[in-house]
Amino acid sequence: MAPVQGNYDYDLVVIGGGSAGLACAKEAVQNGARVACLDYVKPTPIGTKWGVGGTCVNVGCIPKKLMHQASLLGEAVHEAAAYGWNVDDKIKPDWSKLVTSVQNHIKSVNWVTRVDLRDKKVEYINGLGSFVDPHTMVAKLKTNERTITAENFVIAVGGRPRYPDIPGAVEYGITSDDLFSLDHEPGKTLVVGAGYIGLECAGFLKGLGYEPTVMVRSIVLRGFDQQMAELVASSMDERGIPFLRKTVPLSVEKQDDGKLLVKYKNTETGEEGEDTYDTVLWAVGRKGLVEDLNLSNAGVTTVKDKIQVDTKETTNVPNIYAVGDIIYGKPELTPVAVLAGRLLARRLYGGSNQRMDYSDVATTVFTPLEYACVGLSEEDAVKQYGADNVEVFHGYYKPTEFFIPQKSVRYCYLKAVAERSGDQRVYGLHYLGPVAGEVIQGFAAALKSGLTINTLINTVGIHPTTAEEFTRLSITKRSGLDPTPASCCS
Ligand code: FAD
Ligand code: NDP
Repeated sequence: MAPVQGNYDYDLVVIGGGSAGLACAKEAVQNGARVACLDYVKPTPIGTKWGVGGTCVNVGCIPKKLMHQASLLGEAVHEAAAYGWNVDDKIKPDWSKLVTSVQNHIKSVNWVTRVDLRDKKVEYINGLGSFVDPHTMVAKLKTNERTITAENFVIAVGGRPRYPDIPGAVEYGITSDDLFSLDHEPGKTLVVGAGYIGLECAGFLKGLGYEPTVMVRSIVLRGFDQQMAELVASSMDERGIPFLRKTVPLSVEKQDDGKLLVKYKNTETGEEGEDTYDTVLWAVGRKGLVEDLNLSNAGVTTVKDKIQVDTKETTNVPNIYAVGDIIYGKPELTPVAVLAGRLLARRLYGGSNQRMDYSDVATTVFTPLEYACVGLSEEDAVKQYGADNVEVFHGYYKPTEFFIPQKSVRYCYLKAVAERSGDQRVYGLHYLGPVAGEVIQGFAAALKSGLTINTLINTVGIHPTTAEEFTRLSITKRSGLDPTPASCCS
C-alpha cells in the first residue's frame, strides 16, 4: 500500500551513485532535504565490478584519462632524448603496473566518496532499486531487501556498454568496463566502434605499445564536425593505427591457441574477411539502465532505453525526475550530469528556478592528438543558417614544442565557424592538437558569452602557446588561400 502523503522515509531518494546522482543527493542535503542514494553495480560478463562513484570514476573519464596520460608520457620520454635527456632506449610500459596504479587511484576515490556521503549526511544504500509505485522503491541488498518510500525520486542510473548481437560477442569480447582493470596485456586488439570510446582506447593502446585496429561501421565520430573527425582518424592512421572502413563484425571464435578469430564483412562490397586478435573491444555505444527499475510500476515511460524529461528534468510522473546519461537526447558527459543534478536539487529544495542549459557544451576526444570543440560543427551551422551565411576561419599551425623532436604537425589544425555578416558571432570552435581540453575550456565560456570573430582576433594571444592560434585566425575557407603558416612568430 502506498504511504500516506507527506509521511515518507525520505524527502528524496536518488537512484544511482554516479556523477549525476551524487551531485544531486549532496546538493539536496545541503538544502535541507532528507536524502538516500542507492548505488549498485552489476558485474560485467567476465566478472569485473567496482565501487561507488559511477562510470566516470570507475570505468570512464578517470581511468581513460590516466591511460591516455600514460601513453602521452611514453611519447614524451622518446621526445625527451631530442631535448638532451639521456634516455634509456629500453624504456617500455608495464601494463600490470599501470593497471595497479590506476585501480589504486580509483579505490582511493571510492573511499573518499563514501566518506563524503557520510559527512554530508546522505544515506548511502548499496542496493539495486526498483519501483513498487511512484513513491515506493525496493532496494535489493546483498542478503535481503529493503522497502523505501520518498516524496521524490531522481533516476540517475546511467548506462552500460552494448554488445553487438553476433556469435561470440559476449563470451569472448570485452568492453571499456573491463579494459581498465584487465589482468593481462591486451596485445593485438580489434576495437569495434569509432565513437569517443573506440578512438580513445585505440589511441592509448597504441601509445602503450599494443596493436589496435579500429573497425568503423559507417563514419568516424558521428555527430562531430566531419572534417575534424577525418583529421583525427588520419592523425591516428599516421601513428600506425589502421582503420577498417565500412566494416562490421560477423562472429568471434576462440581458437585452440587462445587467440580470437574475428570474421567480418565490408558493408559496401559484401566482401568477407577474417583476422585473429588477442583482444576484441566492443565500443559500439551504451544503453540506458532502465531494465531493473520496473518503471511501469511507477508509470514512467521510456524512449528506447532512455527516459524523456522536460526542461526541469521531470519525467511524465510529476514526483519522479531523471538526470545524467539516462535522459534521452542529451550529451552523455560528466560535467553535464553533475550540473544538471545539482541544479535539479536546488530547484527542488533551494527555491531556485535555474534550469540546465544543454547547449554549447564543450567536449574533448582524448585521442593521441586531442580534438576539442564547442558549439556547432561546420555542417550543422550550414544546415541551420545556410552556406551563404556561414564563414569558416581556419588554419594549420606548428606547436613550438613539436620542432625539436620533429613531431608531425600535419594535423595540427583549428577553425572557427561563424556568422558571415554583422558582428560575426562565433557558432563553433574546433581544435586538433595538444592539450585540447585545456585550450577549449576558456573559449567555451567566451562562446557562451556571445563571442564574435572581431573579439577573438583582437584578443592578444599568449605566446608561445597553441591556444593563441585562435587569436591569429585570419584566413577564410571561402578565400581559398593556403591556411598553412609560414612562420610561428609573426
Ligand atoms: P553513471 O556514472 O553511470 O552512474 C549511474 C550509477 O547508477 C552506476 O553506478 C550504476 O551502476 C548505478 N545503477 C544503475 N541502475 C541502478 C539501480 N537500479 N539501482 C541502484 N543503482 C543503479 N565524460 C566526460 O565528460 N569526459 C570524459 O573524458 C569521459 N570519458 C568517458 C570514458 C568512458 C570509457 C566512458 C564509458 C564514459 C566517459 N564519459 C566521459 C562519460 C561519463 O562517464 C558519463 O557521462 C557519466 O559518468 C554519467 O554519469 P551518470 O551519473 O549519469 O551515470
Ligand atoms: P558512440 O555512440 O559515440 O559510438 C558508437 C560507435 O559504435 C559508432 O562508431 C557506431 O557506428 C558504432 N557501432 C554501433 N553499433 C555497432 C555495431 N553493431 N557494429 C559495429 N559498430 C557499431 O558510443 P561510445 O561507446 O563511443 O561512447 C558513448 C558515450 O560516452 C559518448 O557519446 C560520450 O558522450 C561518452 N564518452 C565521452 C568521452 C569524452 O568526453 N572524452 C569519452 C568516452 C565516452 P555508427 O556511427 O555507424 O552508428
